[in-house]
Amino acid sequence: MPVLVDRHGRRFPYLRLSLTQACNYRCSYCLPDGYAADGRPRFLSLEEIARLVRAFAALGMRKLRLTGGEPSLRKDLPAIIAAVSSTPGIERVALTTNGTHLPRHVRLWRDAGLTALNVSLDTLDAGRFHAITGHDRFAEVTQGVEDALALGFDAVKLNAVLLRDCNDDELPAWRDYLRDRDVTLRFIELMQTGDNLAYFQRHHLRADALEQQLVDDGWKLTTRAPDAGPAREYAHPDYRGRIGVIAPYSKDFCAGCNRLRVTATGDLRLCLFGDFGIPLRPLLQSDGDHDALVARIATQLGLKAAGHELHQGLTGITPHLASIGG
Ligand code: SAM
Repeated sequence: MPVLVDRHGRRFPYLRLSLTQACNYRCSYCLPDGYAADGRPRFLSLEEIARLVRAFAALGMRKLRLTGGEPSLRKDLPAIIAAVSSTPGIERVALTTNGTHLPRHVRLWRDAGLTALNVSLDTLDAGRFHAITGHDRFAEVTQGVEDALALGFDAVKLNAVLLRDCNDDELPAWRDYLRDRDVTLRFIELMQTGDNLAYFQRHHLRADALEQQLVDDGWKLTTRAPDAGPAREYAHPDYRGRIGVIAPYSKDFCAGCNRLRVTATGDLRLCLFGDFGIPLRPLLQSDGDHDALVARIATQLGLKAAGHELHQGLTGITPHLASIGG
């Protein structure tokens, strides 16, 4: 079985593919002024995506996450899910979404072959949700999560960016929410990007105190598979749900890196905060370029650095996560 391994010994069974840079939200830490198209971007077509995923699958990629921007803005999302989930070698297809289209579409996505879902939900308070995202859609999103839970996904996860003075007092509410729901909540530490320095300085909060609180309350760190990625996950016998922490500023975070990214315009990005992209799109125009595409991906992996330089405030060429696929 082929597998992508870099010169630091890390394995890469996981690809995050951005389907669009466009987003319908105005999250305060990502696109506070909304998405503004830069010229007329042409995002990867269904055919290009199918070729790309075949090449990664040939290199041992087993898990694919579709993200963005907001991937559910693409009308052809069900066709994309069907194409990638039927690619030989791909075992899991996950989607990261802001959840606005869940109530209408989640069953369609599930039927097309989606196996896992991550929904961004930074708060359990409808007013705060409006303030953070710019949209009064808390009820739709939480209803969409209930709909998803009824569909038997392998996993339903919620992403909450931890924000000082915005949502850092909600652990008790989250515990109530998780008591009877088979959901994993992931607290993500706010990351600095090219465009959000002032916001980052105001609202960044390390997850250490939150983790200590979990431990004090009897939550236990779980053991995860070696390729499971850098999240730390806690479980408690009284709760069906789990709580994870993604702490990109913690020591050794990058040692657990198991993922590569491709942008919506077909650039391979070896790191979320790298300072270059490797264009794959020229090799996505014909099935005849499959071998050359596989070779380019395998060779370029040699350039992957041991770690990001976020601690030094170096955010690479990532103005915001919508531009690369968070
Ligand atoms: N639109 C989709 C969504 O809302 O889930 C997918 C794209 S979004 C960029 C992916 C995730 O990145 C979301 O959970 C979002 O909250 C998170 N995110 C965006 N900017 C971030 C930042 N600066 N630091 C940490 N997480 C961030």
